[in-house]
Amino acid sequence: MQLRYNYRLDPQPRHRIAFGKAFGCARFVVNDALAAREAAHRAGLPYVTDTELSARLTASKHDPARGWLNDVSAVVLQQALADLNTAYRNFFASLKGGRAGPKMAKPRLRSRKDHRQAIRFTANARFKVLGNGKLRLPKIGDVPVRWSRPLPSQPSSVTIVKDSAGRYFASFVIETEPSTLPQAAPAVGIDLGLSHFAVLSDGRKIAAPQFLRRAERNLKRRQRGLSRKQKGSRNRDKARVKVARAYARVADARRDFHHQLSTRLIRENQAVAVEDLAVKALGRTRVAKSVHDAGWSGFVAMLEYKARLYGRHFHRIGRFTPTSQTCCLCGVKDGPKPLHVRAWQCRACGAWLDRDINAAVNVAKAAGLAVTACGAQVRPGFAPAQRGEAGTHPKSHRETA
Ligand SMILES: [Zn+2]
Repeated sequence: MQLRYNYRLDPQPRHRIAFGKAFGCARFVVNDALAAREAAHRAGLPYVTDTELSARLTASKHDPARGWLNDVSAVVLQQALADLNTAYRNFFASLKGGRAGPKMAKPRLRSRKDHRQAIRFTANARFKVLGNGKLRLPKIGDVPVRWSRPLPSQPSSVTIVKDSAGRYFASFVIETEPSTLPQAAPAVGIDLGLSHFAVLSDGRKIAAPQFLRRAERNLKRRQRGLSRKQKGSRNRDKARVKVARAYARVADARRDFHHQLSTRLIRENQAVAVEDLAVKALGRTRVAKSVHDAGWSGFVAMLEYKARLYGRHFHRIGRFTPTSQTCCLCGVKDGPKPLHVRAWQCRACGAWLDRDINAAVNVAKAAGLAVTACGAQVRPGFAPAQRGEAGTHPKSHRETA
């Protein structure tokens, strides 16, 4: 399987200029190809094939008016075309309904103002990690890398990304053989919640770290401030960069937290089960969805690939299972509960249940995992107020689940 290893780059001014050129040429090639396909489509001509596009690119490099395309690695330009072709194939497949997952958008023109610029070098481009720790990229130079962890083996490709905060990253693709971890406790169900980041079927509740929650609140405030600034003004531009930097910091911190937690859960358990987020999001307000789903989907993706990497089982509860309405002890469906109800008594068996742990046990059971339901039971009348909630809930939250 393929894994990505990301590192921050510290390009010097001459590298930045060369990257800028490469991003520009890649954009030009993609936009040119897109325009050719659109024009053919409008004129009722056949679809311009991948081979034809590639031949046109080679020809345009001999055109003296476009000689500047030769200042950039040929592999970068061919890869830009390859990415466009993949985007087209995914788009057509999603039109036919042949591709699982969300509808794909039609490939669109790229702009200098896009918040993310990227180019890719494959092994053909002969990029190289040098003995002095720098990354040698053809027609760019030897770029310093912050090696936050070692690369485990020879990468098959590297993508250079410039994000909206103006930072550069190298993302290496590494081929890895799945390995095995020592046997661990059997299984765990996970409820991704609003009051805690995750609640486990064994009764543990995991909150996002305090600094991350504070940073997320901070970011929301800055974003509101930005939307009040006048469009096109210098102040807005300055504020936009500041928000982008803050956003990047929050995203990094969140990713670190997700990595640590997902690694721990995969190490500790033979099998993990989570609810499908599309199902989870049903009935959720727009605000809550946008704030939380962004974090969850990245986390669930990590759980899934780490499970594959270490030979653990990963289960996603796809069909609609009323995990917070069903008593995990007797299996009777008790009806919807408003979100503020943190503990409830089952009308059938009389057990007092913690809302989130009960849901986590149900997630595990729906996946066919054998877990104990002991953790879900609470003392009668025990319904602790959850401090974290005030900060993460939108005011008009009247969700029932
Ligand atoms: Zn019951």
